[in-house]
Order: sequence, then structure tokens, then C-alpha cells
Amino acid sequence: MAKKILIFFGAPGSGKGTQSDLLANKTKLTKITTGDLLRSEVAAGSVLGKKAKGYMQKGVLVPDSLIKDMILKRLESASKSGYIFDGYPRNLKQLEDLEEIFAKIVKKNDLVYGIEVAVSDSEVKRRLGGRRACVCGAVYHLKYNPPKKTGKCDVCGKKLFIRKDDKPKVISNRLKVYHNESEPVLDYFRKGGNLIKINGEQSIAKIHRDIMGKLKKLAIVK
Ligand code: AMP
Repeated sequence: MAKKILIFFGAPGSGKGTQSDLLANKTKLTKITTGDLLRSEVAAGSVLGKKAKGYMQKGVLVPDSLIKDMILKRLESASKSGYIFDGYPRNLKQLEDLEEIFAKIVKKNDLVYGIEVAVSDSEVKRRLGGRRACVCGAVYHLKYNPPKKTGKCDVCGKKLFIRKDDKPKVISNRLKVYHNESEPVLDYFRKGGNLIKINGEQSIAKIHRDIMGKLKKLAIVK
């Protein structure tokens, strides 16, 4: 059976993480999220985590060679039916690395598509700028999901804070990185005719329906 490889693109805060989760649940493809893999390395205090932490806090990309090794390791235990990438490849060098990896594992009939969850910069700033977090793991949004008491967590009552990578300066950096480094990768898929573009400024359910509709048309999902 043809392997399916779906690669999600979208600015930080575009909702591509939520959408790729929904798709992974439906399709049983292995989801590979570099941001999550890196965050767990940081939390575990591993050698990789220690190297990655500073870059992540500034909102710039972690060096490509570290990411490539991490992807290769993750692919060892991935499903044979295919994968969903979320957050990789993020620049042209990573695309080159991925092509090198694909040369070994992708067959002629396999289906490789990019999925772009498109949102404007102003929407990203609204979404991420209003986000508040708690040490217990709960996440709020000042406008869309506010806590019952201003500045306090509903779950544990602790004071809410702004994650380092949600500070305005870091959000701008992450957007700059997306436009300068990740969009050329999108162009590559667009020119190859295998990019699916979805309007990300809709409800979560509607975005999911749009993605499923396009994938069904391409016979990627049933
Ligand atoms: P994300 O949760 O996808 O926004 O990722 C959070 C941070 O992890 C990014 O700002 C980068 O510092 C780092 N990161 C995630 N994926 C990659 C990648 N493919 N290449 C380099 N750095 C990455």
C-alpha cells in the first residue's frame, strides 16, 4: 500500500498542531512534532535539550543537524503506513535533509503533500499575545478562554504568566523566521503542485472538515 506523508505548514499560533492532531487521530499515521520532541528533551535536561533551550527561548531555529538526528531517531519507530510532520522542515536545508531521508524510505507511488494552515500575522499576534499559562500546565486566552479570576488559574489558583516564547518580541521573531525561512519551503511544494492551502481563520471544526474534504478528493483518506 502507498505510504502517506503529510507535512503541515503554518505560522506559530496558526492551529496546525491542533489540526495535525485531529488528522493523526483519524488516520493513525505517526505524528512527528519537532517542537514537542524538543520541549521534552529540554524538560528531560538531555544533552540535546541543553543545546536547544537557548534557541527556543529566543524564537529562532535550533541547528539543522540536531533536528535531522532527532527526526532519524523518531522515524525508526514510526508507522509503516506513513507520517504527519508538524514543524518540519522549517527551512531549505531541512528540506534538503528530508529529501535525502525520503530517497531511502519513500517509494514512487507514495503520496507526499504539504498542508498550509494560512493565518495573517495580525491574527497570530492576537492569538499568541493573549495567551496565559500556569505552572500546572493549564493554558488560557485573555479573550477566547479567560480564567474566572483575572490573572489566576481556575485549576490550581496560582498566578498566570506569559510563556517566554509568547512575549511580543519573541512572537515577532518567530513570525520573521516563518516568513524568511519556512515560506521558501512552502513555495517548493506549491511549485510541485502538491500543496493544499486551507484558511486557518475559521473554527477548528471547519478547518478540519476542509482538510478532510481536500484529502478525500486526492484519495489520501477515505
Ligand atoms: P513550535 O512549537 O513548532 O513553534 O517550536 C518551538 C521552537 O522549537 C521553535 O521556535 C524553534 O526554536 C524550535 N523548533 C521546532 N521545530 C524546529 C525545526 N524543525 N527546526 C529548528 N527549530 C525548531
